Amino acid sequence: MSLDVREKTAVDLRLTGALYLEDLESGLAQADQEKVRAALRLLHACADEALVFVWDGKSAKSLVQGASSAIWKFSNDGTLSPVVSAVAALDRIAATNCGCTGDYAPSAPQCGCGVQGLALAVETEVRRVYTEALRNPLVRDVSYQTYLVDTARLFPTISDCGLDATTDITSNPAVVHIEIKDRALSSSDICQLAYILFHELICHAFQAGRIVQITKNAHAKCFWTEGWMDALAFELVSKWIAVGNASEWLPFTGPCATDAISSYHRDRYQRPIGLDDQAARDRRFARKSYWKLKQVLLECGLVPDVYEASLLAQRFSLCLNAHPGASTDRLRKICDSLMIGLSTEKGSSEPASRCIDFINYNDISLLEDGLRRYAV
Ligand SMILES: [Zn+2]
Ligand SMILES: [Zn+2]
Repeated sequence: MSLDVREKTAVDLRLTGALYLEDLESGLAQADQEKVRAALRLLHACADEALVFVWDGKSAKSLVQGASSAIWKFSNDGTLSPVVSAVAALDRIAATNCGCTGDYAPSAPQCGCGVQGLALAVETEVRRVYTEALRNPLVRDVSYQTYLVDTARLFPTISDCGLDATTDITSNPAVVHIEIKDRALSSSDICQLAYILFHELICHAFQAGRIVQITKNAHAKCFWTEGWMDALAFELVSKWIAVGNASEWLPFTGPCATDAISSYHRDRYQRPIGLDDQAARDRRFARKSYWKLKQVLLECGLVPDVYEASLLAQRFSLCLNAHPGASTDRLRKICDSLMIGLSTEKGSSEPASRCIDFINYNDISLLEDGLRRYAV
């Protein structure tokens, strides 16, 4: 179920706190830090209150206005910038009061509520990267639905993050389901959401993205999707955080943001909850093979430098993942052959050359034939 008005108000308040009042690198004086922390505690209390005392748009608006006035007293008469920014955000929320659920569908106007802003900023970047690789735009549309889930009920793929997501590409448009834990959100959670969204869009939403709809979603054990493509998603979100327009949507973009997404990425491989040992090993092997492709391209002289190796590995992965014939079964088999080919034939450029051929001819059957000798 999408967020109802009381849940959406609580999420709005928690997001505002995480975005503006938990800057881990602010360098504020001790007394000012205390004030920011007090404002954050107050906002969390208002969020809990919203879950009980909000029942319609009017009561939501008055609670958000009340929260805004309450934290203003910690703003040093309008000079303490984290509090001033939070107040401005709350005033915007109260003024908009659009009565939506925070969900987004391409057919409806964008109101910027909830996590829409971040999701659409990430989608724009992901579409740009895919279009550049494919030399063609993606045809699939994506919508976003947000849910508030009981902390204990959230499938614990990554146990300590406040959010999780899954994507369904069997519907049109594809739907990214974003689950938000029913608790205070941290600024690290928001940075990790950027990575989660890159993962959902790069790996899942645009799988076979050159056609509108596909009949089967990738399985959680699919090492192409969850290992090879995730390695690429991590590479791209790291770059976006470093040089993209991420600062507009995230609480911070410096070393703390890198720490947040790195710890999430590490946990996906070192303690992937819900995967058996073999599936976890396959996921790690696929991630390593993505990196190995770059190494082979470079070592065998197929590209002049590291930059070109990286670009080619990215382009191959994106073109294959979005290919109209890219069913999850085919992708997994191709990935399996590549993993074996890249790791067993030391000094051979053969598997990497087949990847270059695929970029040039865009022929998935030719790629399968070329890698058949490595198939188990
Ligand atoms: Zn709205
Ligand atoms: Zn996934």
